[in-house]
Amino acid sequence: RSVASRLVVVPSTGSTNKDLVEQASAAPADWPHLSVLLTDEQTAGRGRLDRQWSAPPGTSLAVSVLLRPDELPGSLPVGAFGWLPLIAGVAMKRAVDAAGARGVELKWPNDVLIAGRKVCGILAELLPDASAVVVGAGLNVTIAADELPVETATSLRLAGVETPDPDAILAAYLGELRVLTYELANARGDAEGSGIRSLIERECATVGRDVRIELPDGTFVTAHATGLDTEGRLMVITDAGPTAVAAGDVTHLRY
Ligand code: ATP
Repeated sequence: RSVASRLVVVPSTGSTNKDLVEQASAAPADWPHLSVLLTDEQTAGRGRLDRQWSAPPGTSLAVSVLLRPDELPGSLPVGAFGWLPLIAGVAMKRAVDAAGARGVELKWPNDVLIAGRKVCGILAELLPDASAVVVGAGLNVTIAADELPVETATSLRLAGVETPDPDAILAAYLGELRVLTYELANARGDAEGSGIRSLIERECATVGRDVRIELPDGTFVTAHATGLDTEGRLMVITDAGPTAVAAGDVTHLRY
């Protein structure tokens, strides 16, 4: 926890992301870069596109982290904020690796899977004044098989990490977030020049795979993923030729 600039732990809340967006907007000076809000029980956790995120109390890490790039050296134009949710995925993937899990994969844009099942979901939200980003992560730590909220999920314990240490995972995650956000801001948001784009591309197991993408209009596209473009979109080749898809335009992505 030493890498958090502020750490607030609440026993239970609706959504740590919602709370942190509200509180950091109301009192910006109280919530510096790498402020953390953590809870044991989230009663109204959210995923992308208003989906629900749920986990039994005390079995998961529900953590929201405030990223305030303007406090870092260099600067991050708002146009480069789109890299932050991807960076968070890499940071969590590495933290889960370090916890001793085998077969950990990052699924673009930022789901962490073990053996093809989701162990962590990440949701990034911009503060209304666009000054900062709140990155929320729900990591399934000790959820038992009969408690899984959806059948596509897994937990660290179910994946073979018998005594996962949430504090150590959080410290590793925050350490990665600190370094990666520093590097991106130090390069003034130049993901190419800083090597951030290629680093994420290397970490992302979606690259090189055949994917089935559901679009917001309910149609499906089958494609082969070839890489990440300079804006973090997934480059794919479809029957119609090469194109790039933005995370916000993907309803579901399956292998
Ligand atoms: P998908 O994984 O379906 O392609 P997504 O990556 O956009 O979509 P998120 O928005 O990150 O998904 O998460 C919401 C979805 O995650 C829910 O619709 C539900 O299916 C699933 N989910 C909810 N709680 C958990 C959990 N604790 N562990 C794993 N998956 C969960």
